[in-house]
Amino acid sequence: MHSNLFESESNVRSYCRNFPVLLKTARNSVIQSSSGMEYIDFLAGAGSLNYGHNHPKLKSALLDYIGNDNITQSLDLYTEAKAAFIDTFVGTILAPRGLDYKLQFTGPTGTNAVEAALKLARLAKRRPTIGAFSNAFHGMSLGALAASGNADKRAGAGMPLGNVTFFPYDGYMGPNVDTVEYIERQLNDPSSGIAKPAAFIVETVQGEGGINIASFEWLRRLCAMARRNDILVIVDDIQAGCGRTGRFFSFEVAEIKPDIVCLSKSLGGYGLPLSLVLIAPELDIWKPGQHNGTFRGNNLGFVAATTALSFWSDETFKASLQQRVSQLHAWLESQVRRYGKERVRVRARGLIAGIEFHRDDIAAAVSAEAFERRVIVETCGARDQVLKFLPPLTIESDIFEEGLDRVAYAIDKIISKTGN
Ligand SMILES: *Cc1c(COP(=O)(O)O)cnc(C)c1O
Repeated sequence: MHSNLFESESNVRSYCRNFPVLLKTARNSVIQSSSGMEYIDFLAGAGSLNYGHNHPKLKSALLDYIGNDNITQSLDLYTEAKAAFIDTFVGTILAPRGLDYKLQFTGPTGTNAVEAALKLARLAKRRPTIGAFSNAFHGMSLGALAASGNADKRAGAGMPLGNVTFFPYDGYMGPNVDTVEYIERQLNDPSSGIAKPAAFIVETVQGEGGINIASFEWLRRLCAMARRNDILVIVDDIQAGCGRTGRFFSFEVAEIKPDIVCLSKSLGGYGLPLSLVLIAPELDIWKPGQHNGTFRGNNLGFVAATTALSFWSDETFKASLQQRVSQLHAWLESQVRRYGKERVRVRARGLIAGIEFHRDDIAAAVSAEAFERRVIVETCGARDQVLKFLPPLTIESDIFEEGLDRVAYAIDKIISKTGN
C-alpha cells in the first residue's frame, strides 16, 4: 500500500484501522480492492449507502446533471435541483404520511443537522437544557457531542460539555422499569434537581450506541409526556431513517409526529453529503441566516436524493426490501437457536440489527474474522460489544445469504475458540 497513507494521515483515523485494505470500485453491496479482492459490504458507509454503491439510476441522473453543466455549488440559492427535491420530498414523502414540516438545509453532515435542531429548540423554548438518552450518539461537534453518551468521545472535546441532562433510554433499567414514568416524576418534582429541558433528542434505534431499540409504545409515551410538559421532541433519524428500519421514517409505525426531525447519511442517496432538518411550521422562528453555512443543499445530493425518493413509491422496491428484512431476521433467529439466548442476544428492526455476545470481546473478534472471509461488518456499543449489521437495502438476496454464511462461520470459529 502507499506508505503515505499510514504516515501522513492523523492518528484520528478509525474505520480504516479495522479494515486496512485499499478500496477501488464498488457496485451495490460488493466492494473491490485495488488488488482485486471482493468484499461484501455490511457497513454501507455507516448507513449512508442504503441504496448501495453506485446505484445505476442515481448514477445516470448524476451523469446527466453534470454532463449538461447544471449548477453544482449554489449556496442556498434557488436551483432546479433543489426545486425538484423539495417537490418530491413534500409530495411523495411528507404529504402521503400526513406530515407538515418546513425544510431546513444545513451544512452537509449529520452533526450539523443536530446542531441546528438543538439551537432551534433552545431558541423556541428559551430553555438552555436538552434531554438526551443513555447510549445516545448525535455527532462530534460540541453541541451534538454534549448530547452523546460515549465517555471517550466526550473526552475528546477537551472542555466541559454542558446543558444536557441524560435520561435512561427504553429498557436501560431492565424490562420492568418504565423510564418515561421515571423521567416525568423527576420533571414534576421541584426538588429533583433536574431543570426542564427545551427538548428531548432521541434515536428510535440507537445505531452507534449498540442497536438499542425503543418500543413503539415507549416512543408514543415519551411524546405524550413531552407534550404534557411543554417539551419538544427531536427525532434524530440520521441513521435509522431513509428506509433503514423498513419504512422511510423510523418513527412512522409508532404514529408519532416529532416536532423536529434530523435526516442525513442516506438522504443524499449516492453517499453524497446532504442534511435536512424538518421543523413543525410554528417552530420555524429562525431569523434569515441565523444558522448559516457555505454548503447547504448540495445540488448533486439533491439530484441523487430526488431519484432515490422515487423508490419509496415503487412497490417492487418495497417488496424486495421486506424480503431482505425477513431473510436477515430469520438468519438472526437461527444464530439464537444455535448458540442459545445466554450467549447470543439479537436486536433488529428492519435492516438494522445487532448481535450482543456473552462476552464483550467477541464482537470485535468476529468482525476481524469476518474481514478475513471478506465481509465488512462493524461493531458498535459502549464497549464495542455488539456486532452491527447495516447492509444496503438493495443488497442482492444471494450475496446477502453468502455474506451471512461467512459471518456465521466467523461466529462459529470465535465462539468455539472461547471454549464455551
Ligand atoms: C452518524 C450520526 C450522526 C452524525 O452524522 P455525521 O454525518 O457523522 O456528522 C448523528 N446522529 C446519528 C444518529 C448518527 O448515526
